[in-house]
Amino acid sequence: MASSIVLTDGAKFQCAHMAAPLGITEGITISLTASKIQVDNAKPILNGATIGGFTTEKGCIFQVAGAPTPCVSFQLATVPASGLLAEDNQKVYIDADKSAISSIPSTGNANPGLTIIESQNKLKA
Ligand SMILES: [Zn+2]
Repeated sequence: MASSIVLTDGAKFQCAHMAAPLGITEGITISLTASKIQVDNAKPILNGATIGGFTTEKGCIFQVAGAPTPCVSFQLATVPASGLLAEDNQKVYIDADKSAISSIPSTGNANPGLTIIESQNKLKA
């Protein structure tokens, strides 16, 4: 499995209801990232991380009966990370995990559809 691109906090993240993807500088939060390994100042997303920040003000426009009911966050713990960083023996999410991640229901409204747009292509696992 040493040939798939590692997903990092330098990526952009978009729920099914947002017009455009956002990064961590725009309010997306990632609970677990690798401490040592970096690529272009971005840190790999670790196994079991929660990705948050999908609020109404950030563009998740989902509503239930007229009331804003945003996705809020996605808990990746139900999808085991497929990548392994040999340097520090940490499990990280990779490109091949994207489709499983897209089926995780959000904590706010149970809608799946998290899309991760990764820009780095140097670090693979
Ligand atoms: Zn949403």
